[in-house]
Amino acid sequence: ATPTSVMVGTGRAAELGVLFRSGAALEGLQDAQVVALDKTGTLTQGRPTLGEVRAVAPWTRGDVLRVVGSVEASSEHPVARAIVEAARSEGLNLPAAQDVQAVPGFGVQGLVDGLRVQVGADRFMSRLGVDISAVAAEAQALADAGHTPMFAAVNGQLAALVTAVDPLKAGSLEAVQALRDAGLRVVIVTGDHQRTAHAVARQLGIDEVRAEVLPEDKQRTVQELQAGGTRVAFVGDGINDAPALAQADVGVAIGTGTDVAAESADVILMSGDLRGVPTARRLSRATLANIR
Ligand code: ADP
Ligand code: MG
Repeated sequence: ATPTSVMVGTGRAAELGVLFRSGAALEGLQDAQVVALDKTGTLTQGRPTLGEVRAVAPWTRGDVLRVVGSVEASSEHPVARAIVEAARSEGLNLPAAQDVQAVPGFGVQGLVDGLRVQVGADRFMSRLGVDISAVAAEAQALADAGHTPMFAAVNGQLAALVTAVDPLKAGSLEAVQALRDAGLRVVIVTGDHQRTAHAVARQLGIDEVRAEVLPEDKQRTVQELQAGGTRVAFVGDGINDAPALAQADVGVAIGTGTDVAAESADVILMSGDLRGVPTARRLSRATLANIR
């Protein structure tokens, strides 16, 4: 291996916004057989907006958005920001919530005006023993259309179905097609609902989905994909992607994400455009072909 050709190759890559953090990253990328992709913020824009609000009587849309917005105002989750922005833009005044607690991978809870407000995924509601059957069919239909379904409970009673919508990034379809054309197995890994994940997968022509993966289990999912010596690239952007990036044979962080993700990665895509993945792979092949 000549260091000069590595430098020429990685220099060309840098012009295209692809940073290889080591020579081994070049090899890791060209040897990968599976590309596992985080969904939120990697395949999608990662800035969801509020979709539907279906209040359950006696709750009304405004009342439910107000208490849900109050607890979400203390949450860092992208869906929380979507709900809070929508509530404020509808002119709702959000009272300060007390004792707010985030439950990673499940949802958030707190006290608003003395009411116990809990918002999150269906698995959060089952853990709390809240019956969601009144809106379950609607939740399924919206999830099949790509919405992320969430449920709000007040004092242990279902108050609403709330959904968020996170559109695909412009380059995602082309990037996935290029990876598949190159013979790679493409897998979505996400904490989101099964049906939502499958809806996104369908739009992208991906047939392998690992959904409802808890933040602490993303790394284990990569490990499972590595069974039998399969070489796995993981592409992600978030803080909770860092262990998966480190576990993968090659970790690719996309630049719109967090510093923590970047530090755990072997390759960094500065632009956040997923087409950087097939581009980086092409560059690694060309560079290594020069060397060998
Ligand atoms: P992802 O980053 O893939 O969305 P997470 O593990 O962060 O995965 O979240 C999984 C699911 O948990 C979300 O899709 C949502 O249903 C629920 N959830 C997490 N945090 C919140 C929150 N603050 N408000 C409502 N729902 C939440
Ligand atoms: Mg993410």
